[in-house]
Amino acid sequence: MSDALYDLTLVVPCYNEADNIPLFYKTATECFEQAGVGIEIVFVNDGSQDGTAQLLRRVVESARGKHAVQAIDFSRNFGKEAAMLAGLREATGDYLVLMDADLQHPPTLLPRMYRILRDSGGALDLCGARRRGRAGEGKIRACLSRGFYKVWNSLTGMETASGEGDFRMMRRCVADAILQLGESNRYTKGIFAYVGFRTSWIEYENVARSIGESKWNLRGLLRNAAQGIFAFSDAPLKIAGPLGTGLVFLSVLTLLLPQTQHAIICLPLLLSGLQLLVLQAIGSYLARAYWEIKQRPVYIVRERGAQERRNS
Ligand code: UDP
Ligand code: MG
Repeated sequence: MSDALYDLTLVVPCYNEADNIPLFYKTATECFEQAGVGIEIVFVNDGSQDGTAQLLRRVVESARGKHAVQAIDFSRNFGKEAAMLAGLREATGDYLVLMDADLQHPPTLLPRMYRILRDSGGALDLCGARRRGRAGEGKIRACLSRGFYKVWNSLTGMETASGEGDFRMMRRCVADAILQLGESNRYTKGIFAYVGFRTSWIEYENVARSIGESKWNLRGLLRNAAQGIFAFSDAPLKIAGPLGTGLVFLSVLTLLLPQTQHAIICLPLLLSGLQLLVLQAIGSYLARAYWEIKQRPVYIVRERGAQERRNS
């Protein structure tokens, strides 16, 4: 018998989502109104500046006696990865789902995902919802994103695809496995691929954000992509070997050529460029090791708002 307090916990990271939270809350709670499923919602306010904290306090108050709602308020913006980790740590449900507050992860899919997992009788551990298109997203972002997953898969030997985001419902055993990974440089999509488990996917048409803007700019996306690679693959560290061997052959070849003036100018530039690139890769791992050794908390909680637990 499970001793979980709730059937399902929704973990919702929020950064400047005051305009979206009321509709999110209404839609998510209505989905389960008739279903007899006890839900808990854990909102994590990731240092918003737009009144999200105050709004969440009101949501917690107004939900009293009706729904179990927790609001964790970070001391500043620590990023979505930290917010998801905090939510998973606080969640008490038998099943847990990670989802965005901006309704791009449609709450209306939740009952279906829940049924798939529950009715599988333990054969499935995860049910992910995968976007079909990329409507409302810039062409450059969509293209970079597709290319990135191809590179990531080949470097890590694991599988993740464009469109497969963090919107996944999981059994408690999956969340426990995710929480065992103690690294502070987190990349949840990679973590899902790493922990494995039996997963089923459903598809949904991509929904454009109705209110507010995506928090991702090109720089943020590139940083996230680098994080994904450096956290799950050591291939860039090993590139120096094959690169050096290739260059030794190249330099021998240039000696055999009749006209070597071009090579004399070009080769030193090429070599120093490549050396700097390799140094950059080594530096990236060193920097990550440096941050891990510090063992700083991934986030700092300023305040917690919650009602009394259901059976306490
Ligand atoms: N988010 C967060 N902290 C951040 C950035 C985003 O908690 O620093 C939350 C945000 O409020 C939303 C989710 O993460 O609920 C996804 O963010 P966004 O919609 O900006 O990403 P996109 O959908 O464009 O990938
Ligand atoms: Mg979004």
